[in-house]
Amino acid sequence: MSILENLHKIKSLLPSNVKLIVVTKTQPIDKLMGVYNCGHKIFGENKVQELVDKYEILPKDIEWHLIGHLQTNKVKFIAPFVSLIHSVDSLKLLQEINKQAEKNQRIINCLLQIYIAEEETKFGLNFQEAEELLVSEELKALKNIKITGFMGMATNTEHTRKISSEFESLKLFFDRQKNVQHFNVNLVNLSMGMSSDYISAIKNGSNMIRVGSSIFGERA
Ligand SMILES: *Cc1c(COP(=O)(O)O)cnc(C)c1O
Repeated sequence: MSILENLHKIKSLLPSNVKLIVVTKTQPIDKLMGVYNCGHKIFGENKVQELVDKYEILPKDIEWHLIGHLQTNKVKFIAPFVSLIHSVDSLKLLQEINKQAEKNQRIINCLLQIYIAEEETKFGLNFQEAEELLVSEELKALKNIKITGFMGMATNTEHTRKISSEFESLKLFFDRQKNVQHFNVNLVNLSMGMSSDYISAIKNGSNMIRVGSSIFGERA
């Protein structure tokens, strides 16, 4: 099937409350334009440099999401335009995002990345760290960020029950934290699910999925 056929098929399967982030990392500009021209304008990239390069070339009404790990010294490059950062995993990073957002006179929406997988290599906060961060005084001082939810990645495994239970654990945590309300915390987005596991993620309460290879084919 073609890229656009894949895109239409996935969109037709999605419940109306689930937002699709088309993950465009490593894909060339013409393929992004193909997706754009058929009306989908929400893209996700995992590297700052590639995100900035594509932002500069492509139409300005695209909503750009950073889904990969972010270093504090690179925040300034995306602060003028990024619409959601999925991968916030420390107070220090939030403080830098706040500072750069203020310079650009904007509020930058952020998700806390929560560690739910078994693999040691995955970034993120554990539940307790996230809970503490959400009620901390330091967070309340940040006027130019807004935490709008959580992101999590399940273990890369064939064990579907394991994947499902990891997603379920994050959904339970999300539901428990939803009552935390500050001017800069409003937990509405739950970003879980990629090509291999988005169906399970949606069953377990995801309302934001990040899908690349099921649309574009396997990355080279
Ligand atoms: C690459 C990536 C995805 C998309 O992966 P696919 O398997 O291509 O759908 C989703 N989330 C993050 C954080 C990624 O880096």
